Amino acid sequence: MNFSQRLIEWQRINGRHDLPWQLNRDPYRVWVSEIMLQQTQVGTVIPYFERFMVRFPVLAALAQAKEEEVLACWAGLGYYARGRNLHRAARVIAEKHAGAFPRDFDQIVALPGIGPSTAAAISAFVYGERRAILDGNVKRVLTRMFGVDGWTGNKKVENQLWRLSESLLPEEDMETYTQAVMDLGATICTRSSPKCQECPLSIDCTARRENRTSSLPAARPRKALPERSATMLVIRHGRDVLLKKRPAPGIWGGLWSLPEAEADSKEACLQLTGQVPASIIEMPRLNHVFTHFRLEIQPVMLTLKWLPQLVTDPNSIWMELDDAIEAAIPKPVKSILQTCANAD
Ligand code: SF4
Repeated sequence: MNFSQRLIEWQRINGRHDLPWQLNRDPYRVWVSEIMLQQTQVGTVIPYFERFMVRFPVLAALAQAKEEEVLACWAGLGYYARGRNLHRAARVIAEKHAGAFPRDFDQIVALPGIGPSTAAAISAFVYGERRAILDGNVKRVLTRMFGVDGWTGNKKVENQLWRLSESLLPEEDMETYTQAVMDLGATICTRSSPKCQECPLSIDCTARRENRTSSLPAARPRKALPERSATMLVIRHGRDVLLKKRPAPGIWGGLWSLPEAEADSKEACLQLTGQVPASIIEMPRLNHVFTHFRLEIQPVMLTLKWLPQLVTDPNSIWMELDDAIEAAIPKPVKSILQTCANAD
């Protein structure tokens, strides 16, 4: 049996058949259930769905209701934009489609709050149309079954999954198949600890064979942090080093640190100490990662001929190298000073 046949067989025996929105294939009920099931599990949705149907038994009742009434019925289900869009869509249907839920896929997908996957599910469930779905559960099943790498939110990966989902559609029995692939993702091929022994796809599932169920689907990649750079001046006279207090609030606020050069290190040294350094040595660069950015530090060691007074700047201090290493200084500054101490 191929992919879809196996799922259809499995669904007939093991799938869910008595959910309240499965009692009849009324498009209004199917639509409301599909919206409620976005990001919410079946067990949570059932009581909300039943209450909603008592309060708004037909589409016209929903279209005529006030938004507050709809949201009151939605309270506790979360993601309230879904409730607002449902209400807006009901009004669009009342105005543009004479109150009858549209039959045409393009008209369904044009309604507020309905994406291509939800529209396809409604078309398959209500009209038996041959349309692929791709919700979070289906993405998980497909990436594992076929070993699809890459984050599923990536457009290229998503397009690949759409093509895959389309290629797997059965010729008939769309309703059972659509429910099957959804149910398998929700109950067997779960995010953590999938029940592979009970899965009808296990014989040729890539993730199971390669022991990759915990790494598929791939996690969302971390955003690349913006990069900044700084030139830190290690201005020294003998064992003394010049430190400068960081302004607070701000990065490393209140800690002692090394003075920084905006442009030319020699010029900066002249401004800070009143003298041109006897030697200038570029030290190895180092990186420091903050929560919001990555800092590349270029330390530059400048040696002075005599120890100048620092009467003009109360936030600067000369400190003996070993004391400076033990002072309240940021980690990368400590590492720079340690490099200096080791080289002495
Ligand atoms: Fe998911 Fe396991 Fe089935 Fe593969 S065998 S589809 S990982 S439940």
